[in-house]
Amino acid sequence: MIPYARQDINDADIEEVVRALRSDWLTQGPAIERFEREVANFCGVQHAVALSSGTAALHLVCQALGLGRGDRLWTSPITFVASANCALYCGASVDFVDIDPRTYNLSVSCLEKKLRQAAQENTLPKIVIPVHLAGQSCEMERIFELSQRYGFKIVEDASHAIGGAYRNEPVGCCRFSHAAVFSFHPVKIITTGEGGMAVSNDHELGKKVARLRTHGITRHEEEMAGAPHGPWYYEQLELGYNYRMTDIQAALGWSQMKRINTFVERRQALAARYNRLLAALPLVLPHQHKDTSSSFHLYVIRLRLDQISKTHRQIFEELRAKGIGVNLHYIPVYRQPYYRQLGFAEGLCPEAEKYYNEAISLPMFYNLKESEQDQVATALREILS
Ligand SMILES: *Cc1c(COP(=O)(O)O)cnc(C)c1O
Repeated sequence: MIPYARQDINDADIEEVVRALRSDWLTQGPAIERFEREVANFCGVQHAVALSSGTAALHLVCQALGLGRGDRLWTSPITFVASANCALYCGASVDFVDIDPRTYNLSVSCLEKKLRQAAQENTLPKIVIPVHLAGQSCEMERIFELSQRYGFKIVEDASHAIGGAYRNEPVGCCRFSHAAVFSFHPVKIITTGEGGMAVSNDHELGKKVARLRTHGITRHEEEMAGAPHGPWYYEQLELGYNYRMTDIQAALGWSQMKRINTFVERRQALAARYNRLLAALPLVLPHQHKDTSSSFHLYVIRLRLDQISKTHRQIFEELRAKGIGVNLHYIPVYRQPYYRQLGFAEGLCPEAEKYYNEAISLPMFYNLKESEQDQVATALREILS
């Protein structure tokens, strides 16, 4: 089976991890800061906090921005459940903004309409999480303008998008957001096994996320409520977690960052090649918004079912039967049983539902061979003919 995604670990990565294992620090050592600095420099952002997962990053950024009971968070329904779950961890409620039919990212016109209504009903969100689906940035400047008008905070879920760009600036630079988060799960652009990072230009926010990562504990005297009892002294100032990344993982992440441009360029070349190979088939190929450069975490096609005599599911199953490890990103979050039980009903976001009925993620990863890509195209051609 050709998988839909796969990490690429080379000898240099392995050597870095071994070096960390032989060092004095397995966790809370110098590899974390080195990795954080590397990502911050790459993104052109001031603060970076390495965390145990992308989910932990979403949770801590929301908590640090003060999201709590009675607050609302809005996101896209076409995302991994983590982009919505982070609201619920904080005791807030979540709602969904339908997607743009071309980019499959949160639709700015739907967001604007929903905000106008919420302003009248006094139900405006505290945080909006645009998700850069497949690695293509959302229209951040337009979302930023709305945030100025309606007073919400923006947290970019950039789990797919490290190495992507918006208006010729790296995703994660936070020009149009309060913070962005990355995931380093093995299917993503670079990996630390499990891991994530929060980035921001807000010094206070960065400090707060770093503190929440370790139980809300500080060792800095200027942050303390009282005078230190002695050199051993630390203070817990708020309720945090253990969301730390290990030095072993950070060593891997730092080493992977050396190849990030190589990774992304290869993905972009594979996407361009897919575009050529699949051009004649009854498919909608990924649309590239003119302001964005995608990191192509995913290559998503949509079936033109009006021109095909098979169902979405049939085509998906036939591809799997031919050894093509296709996947579907994503089931609209509100259709999960847990969310249904919160009161969400099928049909809430019509464009998201249409997308869900037609989308397929084809294999896309750094090491995908052209011969394997040809196999994918041939299988699709046979199944759709
Ligand atoms: C992977 C992913 C996450 C969560 O990241 P983890 O590191 O697995 O916790 C969040 N949002 C999106 C869109 C993702 O793809």
